[in-house]
Amino acid sequence: MKRDARVFVAGGTTLPGRALIDVLRAERFTRLVGIGADEPDVTDAAATEAFFAAARPEYVFLCAGKSGGIGLNRAYPVELMRDNLLATTNVLHAAHRAGTARLLYLASSCAYPKHAPQPLAVGALGTGPMEPTSEAYATAKFAGWKLCAAYRREYGCRFVTGFPANAFGPHDDFGADSGHVIPALIRRAHDAKVRGDAELVVWGTGTPRREFVYARDLARACLFVAENYEGDAPINLGGGTDVSIADVASAVADVVGFRGRIRFDAAHPDGAPLKALDSAPLREMGWRAEADFRAALAETYDWFLHHRATEG
Ligand code: GDP
Repeated sequence: MKRDARVFVAGGTTLPGRALIDVLRAERFTRLVGIGADEPDVTDAAATEAFFAAARPEYVFLCAGKSGGIGLNRAYPVELMRDNLLATTNVLHAAHRAGTARLLYLASSCAYPKHAPQPLAVGALGTGPMEPTSEAYATAKFAGWKLCAAYRREYGCRFVTGFPANAFGPHDDFGADSGHVIPALIRRAHDAKVRGDAELVVWGTGTPRREFVYARDLARACLFVAENYEGDAPINLGGGTDVSIADVASAVADVVGFRGRIRFDAAHPDGAPLKALDSAPLREMGWRAEADFRAALAETYDWFLHHRATEG
């Protein structure tokens, strides 16, 4: 990708979108379009078409669409599914019409079947039912992948789909009930420390395992794939190792400095027993994650302390 190409990150305020903008800037991309207040509402088809016609982005990273943890998925399946379907159909169509040279669509590992063999390889996509708690959102992500593939087949568009591992980092949703496990636990551990609580409640049994990727690494992987991957198949964007929720909870408690007890509340759902991605194709292309899990947690907590700690 030429450093003076016009690049658009749709969903620039999402966790991966923010990280991508930072990485693109660090890599000296000089013409980022649709940043900040200039970003169109991509759930609005007319606004999206108008933006693409005027800005003519040559490269697009499609990170738009609402997302959240188990809490949000259970409470708002309609909003999550609808927002993602609208954003994806609008951006893909506008990119096709504007002649965008290359587009990377970020799907979600939730779109894999709940009981597919682990680690999840892209060949397992569509082979079984998804985890019910996130099915609405995940179905929209699955449809986004299929739509990218359809544009590729019918119109020859160079649209590629990436399936990221669970991402975390600065700018995440740190809501105690709405966030994914890492930011939600950072929020609750921090509040528990400040209040001097004796215990930190962690949802589920603590036994499920998840692969996490630091947002900066995910952004680096997106750029790497956009520049180096030409295959028809989607590609997994992982590269870390999987960690149990119990280990995540003690690492978070450690980084935050919460010294109380950790209590697992099995009244909350566990979700999928294990989610890890087979990222061998990415590794074989020479890409490696850089972040150390603990150091990345500490960086995330530091950001939280400076930007979110005093919010309710
Ligand atoms: P998932 O990968 O789609 O299941 O996403 P989540 O990040 O929402 O949840 C991952 C796992 O962490 C599940 O097993 C949850 O039960 C567990 N978990 C433990 N505490 C929390 C919490 O405070 N918030 C969330 N979202 N999950 C939690």
